[in-house]
Amino acid sequence: MAKKKRKLRATFRKGHDSRTRRNDLTRRLGDAAEEDAAAGERISGKGRLSRKRTLAGGEVVEDAAGEAVLPAIDRDACLRGRVLRVQGLVSRVEAEDRQVYRCATRQLLKQLATDLRHVVAAGDDVWFRPETTGGTGERREGVIERVEPRYGVLSRTSRQRQQLIAVNVDQVLIVTSAAEPRLKPNLIDRYLVTCERTGIRPVIVINKVDLIEPADLMPLVGVYAQLGYRVALASAGSGLGIGPLRAMLAGKRTAFTGQSGVGKSSLLNAIDPGLGLRVNAVSAESQKGRHTTTTAELFPIETAGGERGFVIDTPGIRQFSLWGVVPEEVAGFFRDLRPYVSQCRYPDCTHTHEDPCAVKDAVADGWIDARRYESYLQIHAGDSA
Ligand code: GDP
Ligand code: ZN
Repeated sequence: MAKKKRKLRATFRKGHDSRTRRNDLTRRLGDAAEEDAAAGERISGKGRLSRKRTLAGGEVVEDAAGEAVLPAIDRDACLRGRVLRVQGLVSRVEAEDRQVYRCATRQLLKQLATDLRHVVAAGDDVWFRPETTGGTGERREGVIERVEPRYGVLSRTSRQRQQLIAVNVDQVLIVTSAAEPRLKPNLIDRYLVTCERTGIRPVIVINKVDLIEPADLMPLVGVYAQLGYRVALASAGSGLGIGPLRAMLAGKRTAFTGQSGVGKSSLLNAIDPGLGLRVNAVSAESQKGRHTTTTAELFPIETAGGERGFVIDTPGIRQFSLWGVVPEEVAGFFRDLRPYVSQCRYPDCTHTHEDPCAVKDAVADGWIDARRYESYLQIHAGDSA
């Protein structure tokens, strides 16, 4: 139990810190100069351990662990923005006034990049120096000078290297359908494992409830609700549950995942009818550069009360079940199994064939849902859904 608590707290602290900073835009902009000096301390969250270091391209502030490395910038000359998409060397950055700039990246940032820390990724909060080219056919361009610390990182390991898909993701909507295609709880469990691994909050959405009797879903919904997962029932067809989903997206960056045909596009169009048009326009425009299909794209979505949210979409995210999860880790990502794991007699217990096994005892005694345990066995064995 102690182990579990520590793990959770670490995850929360990370997300919580960055959220506080992000929502604190007015203060940030007001005290820009002062804050620049304090930036290293604030960001590392480790007190006065930060130090300054000079690289060829300029000065940077770095924390003791070398985790937060932020270049010092001239905030008067820069704008805050959000990276909608990275394509090769060019990032599309949306400024706070919603104008979109095509940005290159300052050389210094490239020097700071490591395998683990890509220079710029979709979802990044950045400071950039705008350069308006003027004249006819004015283009908005700029140079990214600084990337803020990240949370909610969706990444995938490809040939031993970590590949960032999207960052600053607030939540993952796991979209399933009640029927056509039939509900697959095992698949929900797979997506949940991946969410637990990334630490990003999952929301389970069961769409197409117009095709079934909603009461039939309640036993399943109950199992997930008891574990603390949020479950939303919806029907893109009848409009049921669309209002609450829209509210859930407001002010957040949300990744949609789920097998094809469950109604992700239909839900998004029901939430914001203008979105489909924008998605199509962008994918038509980017047909030429199709080599970067794994990078994500953020689409602004209009939600209630004029507050926007962002939907993160990529074919990669849609199939993200079980990215980089190894069998030994799986039990730790099952909230219902986790409390029993430390009570098993064998330290390397796989909770499959061992006897005795605290997890298996808990299943036998009805503390763990038997179907969830079946999911665990399948995922642990590496079976495909
Ligand atoms: P995606 O592949 O997840 O984006 O799924 P789509 O949005 O393309 O939807 C797949 C099919 O399911 C389409 O034929 C939709 O019309 C249908 N569909 C989507 N939502 C609903 C719903 O709530 N009820 C019913 N009955 N059909 C739906
Ligand atoms: Zn065990």
